[in-house]
Amino acid sequence: MEKYWNNLRSCLSELKPYVAGKGIGEIAKGYGFAPEKIVKLGSNENPYGPGPRVWEAMAGTRLERYPEMDDLVEALAGYAGASPEDVVVGTGMDGVMDTLTRLFLDPGDRTLIFTPTFSYYEILTRLCGAEPVFSARGSRFEADPDIPDDLKLIFICSPNNPTGNEIPEKDLRAIVETTDAIVFLDEAYAEFGDQSFLGMVGEYENLVVGRTFSKAFGLAGMRLGYAVAPGWIADEHRKAAPPFFGVASPAVAAGMAALDDQEHMRIVVSKIKRERDLLRRAIPESHPSGGNFLYIETKEMSGLVAEKMLDRGVIIRDCASFRGSGEHHIRVTVGTPEEMLTFLQAYREIC
Ligand code: PMP
Repeated sequence: MEKYWNNLRSCLSELKPYVAGKGIGEIAKGYGFAPEKIVKLGSNENPYGPGPRVWEAMAGTRLERYPEMDDLVEALAGYAGASPEDVVVGTGMDGVMDTLTRLFLDPGDRTLIFTPTFSYYEILTRLCGAEPVFSARGSRFEADPDIPDDLKLIFICSPNNPTGNEIPEKDLRAIVETTDAIVFLDEAYAEFGDQSFLGMVGEYENLVVGRTFSKAFGLAGMRLGYAVAPGWIADEHRKAAPPFFGVASPAVAAGMAALDDQEHMRIVVSKIKRERDLLRRAIPESHPSGGNFLYIETKEMSGLVAEKMLDRGVIIRDCASFRGSGEHHIRVTVGTPEEMLTFLQAYREIC
């Protein structure tokens, strides 16, 4: 191996692997639970999944053909209130962001990341050989308006994972208008929140808004994401993306069917928001959240709390792996009423 080691890109030495929420299989094996007994609240998934029309549409896909994207892009443009030329798709929003960073980042370039936040922004930055500049969020997790110079990309997550807060419009506009960088606004959780800035993309040449089917639409397993971008960026994005955007035919069919049945999504989102409000009232140590999750302060080390939860078959997220989160925060996905009962019972025993 040593002989070949130097062929690796040097930026890999800076890279730590993404720490995902724990999986059901892993915990069932490690802790001796039946998989169906495990309550999975560590990855901000939507426990209700898609509606029946999505299953029907997927069953009808022709797997011997390459996917055709045009109808999906058209439907997304309708959903997002954008023109189809300004919509780009990818393998989850992760895939969209991967292509985006490859458009803008050369080795040595700098990106701005407000911590704590989704850790994939740092990984993508480093993978390009670029350097992340970290800006610590304030006491209410707000982004510091003091933006450094010489940035290529600024990542803003709203509602922010893991803290749950949303960026006020005036703060976003101030950042977009004062920087020479491209601003990527990650709205993975926007359907659970009170605002969206999709409509603002048309006003600026440097604002891109990312969205996903993984959360409100309950399609995390399909890996389908998209962004609305100024036309010039969308054109470049299509050049750099994989030939079929990395999106499989069942995902195309699922996405179109989900957009055709938005009623299902709205019902599910309102159930989750109701549970979120109940959970927030039950746990005063939690912070307000516009997402399908709550960020909760723990007296004990968060790693210990997460471990004790696992002993009870409940997977939550220890936020110690989020840069800047410290060691006293957990993140809990809002699930079904039954899942929340199980979680609360365990939480009350532990915290
Ligand atoms: N952005 C944020 C803030 C997320 O939390 C996630 C998923 N955990 C993603 C993007 C990735 O979304 P996708 O599943 O579409 O790749």
